[in-house]
Amino acid sequence: MEGLYWNEHQIIPTLQQIRERVSPYAEKGEVAAYIPELSKSSPRDLGVSVTFLNGATYSVGDSAKRFTLQSISKLFSLLIALMDRGPDEVFAVVGKEPTGDPFNSIVKLETMTPHKPLNPMINAGAIAVSSLIKGRDVQERLDKVLDLLKQMSGNHTLGVNQHVYKSERATADRNRALAYFMKDSGIIEGDVEEVLDLYFLHCSIEATTEDVSAIAVVLANNGIHPQTKQQLVPPEYARICKSFMVTCGMYNASGAFAIDAGIPAKSGVGGGILASVPNKMGIGVYGPALNDKGNSLAGVLFLEELSKEWNLSIF
Ligand code: GLU
Repeated sequence: MEGLYWNEHQIIPTLQQIRERVSPYAEKGEVAAYIPELSKSSPRDLGVSVTFLNGATYSVGDSAKRFTLQSISKLFSLLIALMDRGPDEVFAVVGKEPTGDPFNSIVKLETMTPHKPLNPMINAGAIAVSSLIKGRDVQERLDKVLDLLKQMSGNHTLGVNQHVYKSERATADRNRALAYFMKDSGIIEGDVEEVLDLYFLHCSIEATTEDVSAIAVVLANNGIHPQTKQQLVPPEYARICKSFMVTCGMYNASGAFAIDAGIPAKSGVGGGILASVPNKMGIGVYGPALNDKGNSLAGVLFLEELSKEWNLSIF
């Protein structure tokens, strides 16, 4: 018996206690407002779901609230691009290194040669990766990302929040600047507005923490759905994702999170965090009040505490 979490009766009480301890800290954070529609979220919400390898899911708090995946979706556009093109083509347009800069930073794109974004978890990198997804039109490319998420989560009703999508599309000047710069530098080919549209759409896919923990457990389980036993993602690509989650998944706080929680995780400005504890569990967290690095403030504290309680650090 490897730790408290195997005692089924302790799981919900443990999750509840940690939630009670960390949720007051949400007050110190702020919901993202640069995408106007996101500012409508309730800052005090905090939901958590944990899915184990046997498929059992345990949830506390606001686990039924839907939120947009935002940067969490970058993992899945990366997976589709890897499946469509293979690693050589993908890593010809995007690097494998953390930046230490904010997610939407423009500075290194110009100062580094070649002008290739440093990794697929920052906006520039994810936009470049989205440009590699094959399909007749934006809808067909989006459907590939959505279908993968539906299969991983088992929730076939997943879809795009049109309000958030339109709100981002109307205000995305900085992402447009990144994309047009990359087109000019030969990193992106084709129609820039179409690439951006696909990016905004996949960022606006909505899910609950239950969906996210179910998706996360597939990555934790090396790409195999724990119940259907279907290999949904090649194990090598699941490994690439988890590596990026450790080095770049929590923006420019990834180093601190690796030390304090030690769990591969990816956050989004919608307030979600997807965390995959290799060969153990998937975790979904939602708390829209963000800290100064853009990560869910209470969500990060929750994962740090849970990691200590259940000894989850991979290091
Ligand atoms: N759609 C968001 C943007 O491009 C994603 C940012 C994030 O979650 O980090 O600004």
